Formats: sequence, structure tokens, C-alpha cells
Amino acid sequence: MAKQQFQTVRGMYDITPDRWPWFNFVMSTFEHAAVSAGFGRVETPSLEDEGLFSRSIGEGTDVIDKEMYTLTDRGDKKLVLRPEGTAGIARAYLEHGMGSLPQPVKMYYIESMFRYDRPQEGRYREHRQVGLEVIGDASPSADAQVITLVNRVYRRLRLPNVTLQINSIGDAACRPKYRKALVDYLTTNEKQLAEVDRARLAKNPLRVLDSKEASTQVILSDVPQTLNYLCDACQQHFAGVLEYLDDLGIAYELNPLLVRGLDYYTRTVFEFYGEREGAQASLGGGGRYDGLLEQIGGQPTSAVGFAGGIERVILELEAAGVALPDGQPKRVYVASLGEPARLAAFRLIESLLDGDVPAVGAVDRDGIGAQLARADKLGVPLAIIIGQKEVREETVLLRDMTNGAQETLSLSDVVAELRSRFNIV
Ligand code: AMP
Repeated sequence: MAKQQFQTVRGMYDITPDRWPWFNFVMSTFEHAAVSAGFGRVETPSLEDEGLFSRSIGEGTDVIDKEMYTLTDRGDKKLVLRPEGTAGIARAYLEHGMGSLPQPVKMYYIESMFRYDRPQEGRYREHRQVGLEVIGDASPSADAQVITLVNRVYRRLRLPNVTLQINSIGDAACRPKYRKALVDYLTTNEKQLAEVDRARLAKNPLRVLDSKEASTQVILSDVPQTLNYLCDACQQHFAGVLEYLDDLGIAYELNPLLVRGLDYYTRTVFEFYGEREGAQASLGGGGRYDGLLEQIGGQPTSAVGFAGGIERVILELEAAGVALPDGQPKRVYVASLGEPARLAAFRLIESLLDGDVPAVGAVDRDGIGAQLARADKLGVPLAIIIGQKEVREETVLLRDMTNGAQETLSLSDVVAELRSRFNIV
């Protein structure tokens, strides 16, 4: 049989060790901000019941109609690789009786999402998200806290020129009236709608609002706006959210066309954009989903959340030339010369690691010159050299890789000396 070389599945990618520091930078900055603000980490399975998503996200959305990775397992059960985080976390909240904990329950996640999307830069079939959920809090301050936390994360990442757009899409009391006005308007102008939007009009008319089709955009300039149809309670809620943002001086744009792709949103919806153009500009977004928990079998429970793409943020950071903080620990390279030194060098690397001193070395390969050249390439500040003489005298040579200066140290002092030089406390 011919040898076959395998490749990543289309739309998926590897995070190789040289790329990981970027992911770690985004994840750890997010995690630190979330934990500080009282969020606890949650992780749900990658596979869920298909019904969980079709019930919550809603028919007529791209995620449900075109993008779900659906599979039938060997027990004939229909499962889905999660396309988004909120439905699974809402399920977990109900399944673990979190409604009886002090409310709200604040959770964050860092997970892969799977969508059968058309792959391109910034759009993958497995992408990674950071996300927040505040479940059991109906107050505007919960929406504002989610927004300010995300804003803080982007600021700490030093992402330049992030813009925030916000809208309110009403609730079960006022949305039907808006929906009717929207459908009437779009039906009157149906001839000008792009074909995909005509299909959306029939299935999920709110989705027409975020259409990227040029012909549709023309008639959207006069489309009825959600904000003019809000009931008193929704209006008050929205004003409350904006008051917190204004008070903190957080800039936002009101975007009356912002609806977000998933069905379960109520009231506040928001989206953060970077500088990149087009459909991949969205760095993350979220909103309130007061109806979701009831929709999947729970008591009526107010909630608000956010999900952001990690890859999109990294693309922005790289495009903006933001330098990655140096996350590499200082390491010592242990080189050995000759046979008796081989065991001594291996033993020393282990002692250094036991003593929490980052240490590397390849004791049974190459001559001393090649070993030091590798140490140089790795950029280590210090190298330890052990030869036959050093083994006999129970010493080591400590070499400063920046200037080549060498000194002799007693073997028994090495770990303590390096801990002190590397400021390990
Ligand atoms: P959504 O649940 O669609 O609002 O997605 C939340 C965020 O995840 C978006 O704002 C993007 O930053 C990111 N995202 C969504 N889909 C993809 C994808 N296919 N590839 C990469 N990032 C994505």
C-alpha cells in the first residue's frame, strides 16, 4: 500500500508550540479578568444532544441550518459537536441544580466550537472561544458587567481600536409587534431583497437585519428599528445598561440593525469589532437570553453572556504589531563532555528540575561544540558544562552565554546558585 501522509481536516488547524504563546496570552488574560470578577470556570462536553441546539438556537439560523456537525452514534443517538457554548452551559446549570445556589451564578469557559463554515482566514470549522455567562440576574448591571469585563480584557491585551456596538431587541412582550412591522416592511420591499434574504424573511425575519447583501442593504436604510418598538420594561432596562457604560466612559455605538445570529437573545445585544474588514471583523459578542433556560426545560431564569473568538483576537494583535509578552522561563542548558559526565549531567538536570530550576540538555548526543551551539540557539543565558575533570572533582563549569565567561562551582551548590541567579523564590 502506498504511504499516505495525513493532513488536518479542512477548516481545522494545529496549534504548534511556536503559536501556543499567542493563545496562552489571550486565554490567560481573559481567565485572570474573569476569575478576579468572581467567575468560575465551567467545561461542558464537546458532544450534546442535537435537540439542545435546535431547541435553543432556533431554526432559520445559519448555525442550525447549515453549520452543525451532526452525527449519529452507534446507539443511533443524534448528537452534535457543540457549535457554541451557551446552550450547553444552560443545560449544565439546570442539570446540576445551580438554581438553588446564590444567584447569579457566574461562569466562564475556554472551549473549541465546531461549525461547518466556509473556511478562510479568521473562519475555521473548529475555532476557540472564551466566554462568560451570568445566570440568574435580570438587572442591567449584569449586562454592563459582562461588557466592561470584555472591554478590560481587550484593553489588557493592548488591542487597538476595538469598537463596541449595542442594541436592544426587546422581549416576548414587545418583539412580536416589532416583528410584524419588520415583516410588513420587508414584504412590501420583497422584490429588492437578495434571494437568501427572501428565504430568511420567511423563516427568521430578524436575520435579514444583519444581511451583508448589497441589494438588501439598500432597503435596510429605512427599515423599522427595534428601539422604536421596545415596551417600557425593555426601554428602562436598555437605558440602565447604557447608564453604567456612560458612567464609566465606555464608548459604544448604537446599531439599530444589530440582532446577532442566534435566536435566544432578548433585550441587550452587543458586538465588539476589530479593525479588520468584512464578515470576520467580529471579535466577539453577546447579549441577554432571558428565555433560554425555560426553552430547554427550566424555570424562567434571566441570564446574559458573551462569547469571543480567540483566533480573531490573535489576528488583530499580529496585524497591529502587538508584541507578545516574553513568557519563556529562563533556562540553563546542561552540556556534558565524555562518558562519565553523561550520567552526572542527566542527574544534574533532574536535580535542577526537582529544585524548580528550568533546565534542558541532550546528554547522549553530539560533541561539546554542537551542544553549546544548540544552547546558543535556544537563547539560554547560562550553560553548565561537565567534563571528566568536573566529575572527578565534583564541580561544574558555569558559562555565561552572553560573554563566554566561565567559573567553577561546587556541584553541591549548583541548584541553590541557579535558583538565586534566576530569582526563584
Ligand atoms: P457567535 O457565537 O457566532 O457570536 O461567535 C462568537 C465569536 O466567535 C465571533 O465573534 C467570532 O469572533 C468567533 N467565531 C465565530 N465563528 C467563527 C469561526 N467559524 N471561526 C473563527 N472564529 C469564529
